[in-house]
Amino acid sequence: MISPRPSRFVEAGGRRGLHVSFEFFPPKTAEMEQSLWESIRRLAPLKPNFVSVTYGAGGSTRERTHATVKRILAETLLTPAAHLTCVAARRAEVDAVIAAYAQAGVRHIVALRGDPVGGVGERYTPHPQGYTNAADLVAGIKRIADIEVSVSAYPEKHPDSPSVEADIDMLKAKVDAGATRAMTQFFFENSLYFRYLDRVRAAGITIPIVPGILPVQNFKQTRNFAARTGASVPAWLADRFDGLDDDPATRKLIAAAVAAEQVIDLVDHGVTDFHFYTMNRADLVYAICHLLGLRPDHGSTAAPANQTVKENA
Ligand SMILES: Cc1cc2nc3c(=O)[nH]c(=O)nc-3n(C[C@H](O)[C@H](O)[C@H](O)COP(=O)(O)OP(=O)(O)OC[C@H]3O[C@@H](n4cnc5c(N)ncnc54)[C@H](O)[C@@H]3O)c2cc1C
Repeated sequence: MISPRPSRFVEAGGRRGLHVSFEFFPPKTAEMEQSLWESIRRLAPLKPNFVSVTYGAGGSTRERTHATVKRILAETLLTPAAHLTCVAARRAEVDAVIAAYAQAGVRHIVALRGDPVGGVGERYTPHPQGYTNAADLVAGIKRIADIEVSVSAYPEKHPDSPSVEADIDMLKAKVDAGATRAMTQFFFENSLYFRYLDRVRAAGITIPIVPGILPVQNFKQTRNFAARTGASVPAWLADRFDGLDDDPATRKLIAAAVAAEQVIDLVDHGVTDFHFYTMNRADLVYAICHLLGLRPDHGSTAAPANQTVKENA
């Protein structure tokens, strides 16, 4: 008799230890705020490792990022990670943001250089009194507070970077400055991630390099976004969404299938941690997490009414 194939999500002794984190952006309007919070409430019971909140280009969302992170601390038991960039700010200003986060109980920052003020494609010029790059910012955060620091990584090379080697040198500098995790730019070909991971490990970098997964909520938007970030969009992906511009229901099913295929392949190759770019929408991400074996735990996600600031994450 053929014995049943063991589930890829289960190993001897129980479920495989898969961990997820979710990225959100700070809302601009009351309506966006409402849909963000619906998404947070839907995803929170999946007990992510952390939820991160982005920082707008040029620091444009400083207050909104801060407000969103504070609300997560006040109203949930989630561990928030605040994104922070060096762009267009003096060191003293950035240091004040770091200190305010530390004071509010934030224990995790995602430290980034950020895009040039003129937009992607322009030459990046550090602020004369600012942090010069992401590694410098990581060191600055570590000097100010005992805060966990995550950084970015680029399996397909950052558009500003002359080579993958230069990228990996920068990653090494960020790790040497105190970063303990990197989340990657999104990618659609897993082979790109594995090739990059081999090079990172060969360079002696041992921190987790967590794959960034972008469920394709909207193919056109994804293609535009990819063009700006240096991520490639394979022809097979375009083909899968071909002809579906006016068919959102089928697009959603295809998006779920594409992301499922990607994460299952990553799991089969031993990946245990995933960072999801949620675009502030829960449904696809929730479904993919369910597929990964994550089940909601409704008992432990809302902060008690009298709890305003969370203890150390
Ligand atoms: C997980 C993740 C989260 C992000 N969150 C945000 C966010 O919240 N807000 C936001 O604005 N952006 C965000 N970004 C985008 C990021 O800010 C941009 O990609 C930015 O251009 C680079 O910042 P970095 O810290 O990722 O790059 P770095 O690690 O500083 O650099 C990436 C590569 O570019 C090279 N490089 C950097 N500067 C130069 C230069 N002047 N000349 C030549 N090469 C150079 C480096 O050597 C390195 O190889 C995020 C990206 C990722 C992957």
